[in-house]
Amino acid sequence: MSATIRIDPTRCRGHAICAVFFSSGIELDQWGYGKIIDVELQDERALKRARRAANACPNGALVVEEALA
Ligand code: SF4
Repeated sequence: MSATIRIDPTRCRGHAICAVFFSSGIELDQWGYGKIIDVELQDERALKRARRAANACPNGALVVEEALA
């Protein structure tokens, strides 16, 4: 599996919900904006959490991309 996660800074509004859903992969900066810890998602569990966080983001700022094997 090869998957990555990124935040579109033009859409991120600092709701911080992403860090609740994927706390091991996203931290918050001092203003509450999401910051990706590691863009590479290491396993299925991380991918699942990343997808959940992306679905929860009210601004659609979180992008999870999976490469076809
Ligand atoms: S939930 Fe979305 S808008 Fe809020 S901090 Fe995370 S990426 Fe940004």
